[in-house]
Order: sequence, then structure tokens, then C-alpha cells
Amino acid sequence: MVLFSRFFSSVLLAVLYASYGKAAARPGDVKFSTHHVRDLGNGVKVEVFHPPSNYKTFGEGLDVPSSFFDAPIENKTVSFVSSNLNVDSAKVSFKSGFTKDNDESFGYAEQVHDGIPFVNAVANVAFKDNKVVAFGQSFVDTSKAADSKPSVDVSAVISKVEETLQGKKNDIEPTLEYLAQPDGTAALVHVFQVQNDDTGTWYQAYIDAHSGNLLSVTDFVAEASYRVLPVFKMDPTEGLELLTDPSLPSASPNGWHLSKGKDTSGNNVISFKGPQANTTTESSDGLIFDYTYDPSVGPTEGDNIDAARTNGFYVINTHHDTLYQYGFTESAFNFQKDNFGKGGRGNDQVLLSIQDAAGTNNADFATPPDGQSGRCRMFIFTITTPNRDGVLQNDIPLHEMTHGLTNRMTGGGTAKCLQSLESGGMGEGWSDAVAEWFVRSDTPEITDFVTGTWVLNNTEGVRSRPYSTSMTTNPLKYSDVAKLDEVHDIGEVS
Ligand SMILES: [Zn+2]
Repeated sequence: MVLFSRFFSSVLLAVLYASYGKAAARPGDVKFSTHHVRDLGNGVKVEVFHPPSNYKTFGEGLDVPSSFFDAPIENKTVSFVSSNLNVDSAKVSFKSGFTKDNDESFGYAEQVHDGIPFVNAVANVAFKDNKVVAFGQSFVDTSKAADSKPSVDVSAVISKVEETLQGKKNDIEPTLEYLAQPDGTAALVHVFQVQNDDTGTWYQAYIDAHSGNLLSVTDFVAEASYRVLPVFKMDPTEGLELLTDPSLPSASPNGWHLSKGKDTSGNNVISFKGPQANTTTESSDGLIFDYTYDPSVGPTEGDNIDAARTNGFYVINTHHDTLYQYGFTESAFNFQKDNFGKGGRGNDQVLLSIQDAAGTNNADFATPPDGQSGRCRMFIFTITTPNRDGVLQNDIPLHEMTHGLTNRMTGGGTAKCLQSLESGGMGEGWSDAVAEWFVRSDTPEITDFVTGTWVLNNTEGVRSRPYSTSMTTNPLKYSDVAKLDEVHDIGEVS
């Protein structure tokens, strides 16, 4: 408890905290609904575009003509889409569909122009009890569609696209389709698949049938999945989730794993227990880390060690990718093994030691200068039976990782600036503030924040009072700093 009380001692910060914490959404959550630029590596970027879509549900259902009642799903899908959008049925092509329990059926259709289907202008209809209960569509204006006769043959573009995508065309027959573009035009495209069995990539490529240029790709491979506690949740009582591809390509262009790596050892962090080589390996092929955390047994039982290493790997990487958007980049002295020639010093990914044997009821982060790895140690908390794992209380690793951020971003990467009492207090306050910013990033509400509650099984957490905008809940003011002589206490004021 001595370490614990030193590390997490008392009291508060209020105004700065509340305003900073709520000022912006986490950039990791900024997803553009229609556009996404994909960096395929080796300098190739392509744009993935989906036209804006419109989706409606109809409560008890929309009546349809009685001729629909026993019609095949193909016919009623095309009829409904063409009549609802007021387009000729020749402009709608049935793609696929299925029927469940006889009274529910689902139809999927594509827009057609000059007899050629669209890749990305589509519709879907859900029928129930002879009514339409939902309808979605992203049909586009075809007045600016390219000529439907290709001027470049598909055979002329295959080798160039294979070189660009670093794979080989597979034996699926190429097709000719339309691809709606962000500028309102529709490109005529050759469509075929390119695979590389060595690297595991598998793309569907869309090549302009008039210019021969690669316009877009569909990536069939999910890069990685992790069963973790999303960073907007604080502890396992809120439920772990299987997240797919949570990395941000702009911050981690090669994903979170090293080339051909299949464990929790990556460019931004190595998550291990005991010796650094004791990482968690994927639970199944394709970088899937699906380990179930069992709260009824201790941190070292069953799959709990793997669940903990996986969560730590995810949280530190998410902190890396998110803060990267705000400027904690290679040239600003961040923590990466490979800096991709973008400045700063490499070979300093975070070494995250979970369930570290050196202590209990605490956590710490050691920040050496840029070019030397940060060391984060997470300990087991022994307050409860069974014990609880600090790395599964997200606000703790987020707090710790923020020490790496603030120590590197003050003083030009020397990590020497936050050593005095007041500056150290600011560092503690910043760490709590960034942790709160993450765990509250799914809500616009400003509510009181208490850190470290689950590991202590105590709603009061580890500080002396909640972070709050209420001067009644938290009356600390800057003048109180003069009376304090401990960094966490000062941090609570900051
Ligand atoms: Zn701290």
C-alpha cells in the first residue's frame, strides 16, 4: 500500500481537465462514412469510395402489391427498388438474396448502366410478412458515366497491376463494371483479384478501362482482431469486445505487428510477461488474438495472461496511433522501433511488462531519451479475491503511457524536464487528463471522473476526490499547490 498510495495518492484537478478532456473527439474515431484513402505501402495510395447511402425502416412495414406475395425474391427486389427510386427495371440487377422462416426475406441489388452493373451503387430490401420493413440504397446519377465500351483491354493492364499490388492475378474471371467516383462521374472499370500467398495480401482491383489506371481496391484480408476492452471503457465489468483492424494506417503504416510477426511484439510496443520473449501469440491464423478473460479466476489463471497481454498491446498501440494524430510523431520523439525515415530516433518501442513481479498495487513508466525504449510495468492488484490485473483497468495503462508522451514532448526528447515537484505534478495531472479523455471519448457528457476504481473495488478510486467541474465536489484551486508536496496531489490540482 505504500507504493500504491505514493503512486495514486490523493486529490484533484478540475477546470483544465474538463475543458481539455471534452474539447475534441479522439481522432481514431473520426471515420469518414464515404471516403477512405488506403496506403498500400511502396508509395501506392488508392481511394475507396462509397456513394452516400440512404437507409429507411418502416416500423410495422410498408404495404406492397399483392403480386409480390408469392413472387421470387429476385422479382420483388427488382420491382420494389425500381418503383421506389422511379427507375426502369433494366437499371436494377438482382445480386443475391435469401429467405428465413418463410416470412422474412432479404434481397440485394446493383444499379446498372448500359447493361453493366455498378460495384458501389447498390440497394437492399428486407421483406417481412409481405411488407417491406427496411430499404437501403446508394444509387447514383449516371449522366456522367464513362462510355460503356472499354478502350483499354484487361489483358493490357494485368501485369502493371500485379506489380503495383505485389501479387498475381488469380483464376477468377475479370469482369467489367462501373465504379461511382467522388466527383459524380462513373468510371468503367476492369475488375479482377490479385493475391500474394507469401505476404497474405488479397485484393480486388478496379482499373479504369479507358485510362488503364488503378482507381481503387477492395482488401479481402482483415489485418488483425483483438478481444480487448475498447479504450472508451474503463474496466472488464463493461465487457471486452473483439475489435477488427483498430490500427490507424496514418500512424502505423505497416499495422501493429512486425513483418511476419504473429504475436504481441510490434513496432510501437512489445507486450510480455517475465522475459521479453514471453509474448502472446495469435489464437488463430490471420492475427486473431481472441482470448477470453475470466474474472472469476486470478490474473495468472486460464487465458487471463493472454487476455492481459493482448489488452496492453491494444491500449498502448491505440495511445500511440491517437496521439500521433495530435503531433506525437517520429520527429517529436515518439516510441517506435522503425521510424520509417520520418525523423527522430528509432529502436525505442515501449516495453510493456504485464503482471510484473517487481511490485503490486501500482504501475510505472520509465522514460529515457529518444532512441531508448520506454519501460512500462503493470502490477497485479491484491485488494480483491481473486486479484485484479492493472492492465485491464484501461485508465491505468493510459495514464502510464501518457508519462511517456509528456516526458518526451517537453525538452526536445531528453526526458529530463518533469523532474521537479511542480512539473512532476503537472505530469501526473496530464496523465490522468489524457486517460479520462480516452475513456470518456464515447460521450459528449461531462461527468465526474474517478480513476482506478475496479482494481481497488472502491468507487472512490485512487485520488482524493473525483475530477469534476463542480467546485463543491472538487474545491481544489491553483493556490492549493503551495500547500502540497507530492506529485499526484499536485496533479489533482492541475
Ligand atoms: Zn503517474
